[in-house]
Amino acid sequence: MNPPDQRDRLRLALDGLRQDLLAIEVELVATRAVRANGGDDDEHDPDGIPLSSVLQLLEGQKMRAVNDIREAQASLVDLAHGTYGICRICSQPIPPGRLEIRPTTSTCVNCAG
Ligand SMILES: [Zn+2]
Repeated sequence: MNPPDQRDRLRLALDGLRQDLLAIEVELVATRAVRANGGDDDEHDPDGIPLSSVLQLLEGQKMRAVNDIREAQASLVDLAHGTYGICRICSQPIPPGRLEIRPTTSTCVNCAG
């Protein structure tokens, strides 16, 4: 595996994460709009998930997406500096198998926990 492949994979991962974030933000705006219009169905729809819970869920997803994007960006910087694939905590190389599953990771399995 050569560096251009790693860069392509990271860029691809970053693109996907940005699209995820966009989708979450669109949903957040839409849900907030429903709520602002007095459409909170907490009482009217006992079977549905309350809007407040939906918002909470979306906020959590957004935070994770933002975090993942930061990780991906940091990985691209690491790649440019030649330190990509090195665990940030113990400075040991991260196994290629782990990088394949999680290209944006900056820690080895041992340090991830
Ligand atoms: Zn480590």
